[in-house]
Amino acid sequence: MPKVLIAGGGLAGLSAAVALGSAGFEVEGFEARPFAGGRATSYAPPASDSGGECELIDNCQHILLRCCGNLLDFYARLGVRDRIRFHREFYFVEPGGRISVLRRGRLPAPFHFTGSFLRMHCLDRHDKFRIARALWALRRERGRRKDLDRISMLDWLNQKRQTPRAIDRFWRQVLVSAINEDLDRMAAIHGFQVFWLGFLARADSYEMGVPAVPLGKLYDVDAWKRLPNVCLHFRSPVECIAEDGFVVAGELRRADYRICALPFERLAAVGMEAPKLEHSPITGVHLWFDREIMTLPHATLLDRTMQWVFNKDRGRYLQLVVSASRDLTPLARGEIIDMAIGDLRLYFPKVKDAKLLKAHVVKEQRATFSAAPETESLRPTPEAGLPKAFLAGDWTRSGWPATMEGAVRSGYLAAEAVAQAAGRPARFLVPDLA
Ligand SMILES: Cc1cc2nc3c(=O)[nH]c(=O)nc-3n(C[C@H](O)[C@H](O)[C@H](O)COP(=O)(O)OP(=O)(O)OC[C@H]3O[C@@H](n4cnc5c(N)ncnc54)[C@H](O)[C@@H]3O)c2cc1C
Repeated sequence: MPKVLIAGGGLAGLSAAVALGSAGFEVEGFEARPFAGGRATSYAPPASDSGGECELIDNCQHILLRCCGNLLDFYARLGVRDRIRFHREFYFVEPGGRISVLRRGRLPAPFHFTGSFLRMHCLDRHDKFRIARALWALRRERGRRKDLDRISMLDWLNQKRQTPRAIDRFWRQVLVSAINEDLDRMAAIHGFQVFWLGFLARADSYEMGVPAVPLGKLYDVDAWKRLPNVCLHFRSPVECIAEDGFVVAGELRRADYRICALPFERLAAVGMEAPKLEHSPITGVHLWFDREIMTLPHATLLDRTMQWVFNKDRGRYLQLVVSASRDLTPLARGEIIDMAIGDLRLYFPKVKDAKLLKAHVVKEQRATFSAAPETESLRPTPEAGLPKAFLAGDWTRSGWPATMEGAVRSGYLAAEAVAQAAGRPARFLVPDLA
């Protein structure tokens, strides 16, 4: 069978390896770090932050939606699909603690949210009427309007005369975390995709999947043993992507095909041309308290800096996430922790009496590429690499924004391109809902 080398052990590289491995190709993967998963992984925080304990934490909480068909297929291929817990409720919490719950009811899609949406306290009748009209327009304009990659989501919402509260408490709350970009910097096409696939296309597609184990454990599995033709090398940075192979530790490793699944900012270092994309940051704050702070499994926090909070362990270990977190970039770790605790106090009064046992802040300045207007044409297709070298990564033209689903889609697309070039065409990509 043809031999394929893969650079990068993030989701893009791993998914290409699993797909090609299961189709019988001989695959060797090279990852610079000592573990798999790239940006979607776990590690032990520094002892100073962890109170000396060696607990494995995610670099940041990662969630998926049930409409992430390729990511779920990848987990199934690894045998870890059952480690994802799905939640049917979204909790919107206002300062003061009042909770609005969005969940599906008995009506079929796209009307499945009608009952709970009408009962949401955090929006008034006027906001809801405008949102409902905009969702209807989104359904109508999807696939028809040609300027959605050129205008921002905020432009589109303003065209649809959304109220400031509807924008802040509904659209921004959902989309900034889904796309990791502010509404005025996000191409409308991505907002359309999230709301179409996640909220309108099918009644269960919005359900939020949260891994029940640290992310790194999802790839650290026996599944690789079932693929003896796949070999992953860790602590093995690729130094150069050459005409007929990879240079690793100064040695040329030859192969029939190569896949480059590195972050776009690493391409120049291995001799490849990088696209002109920009980054958007994400900040994660891990807080461990001496008592239970919240009983909800997760919540989206309205009107403050902290956007989401996840209950990681009996309401005592909380993980907060701020997407598109440019405003936090200049702040020191202590300032971010103080801000997180100050925000939490407004929603969960138990924080006032609780003692903070330890805290850890993750500032990912290069979390994802910025899904700005006119960016889609800058994202290369898998075939845009060197001869017999294909590209993968959440920044390639996967049809999705920079997400785990986007990364796996890119891996499957690159694997299909290799199979095609080798004269053994195969289909790995799971199509989106129509
Ligand atoms: C803080 C944060 C929160 C996020 N939250 C979510 C979320 O909730 N839901 C979601 O769907 N997505 C989320 N994402 C996005 C998601 O993590 C990424 O889109 C996805 O993991 C990217 O996968 P990838 O394989 O394309 O790239 P990466 O994960 O970056 O993988 C690239 C790999 O290449 C390796 N590498 C680099 N240089 C070399 C070299 N020279 N040789 C060999 N290996 C090399 C790197 O070590 C890395 O392992 C989040 C991202 C971040 C940073």
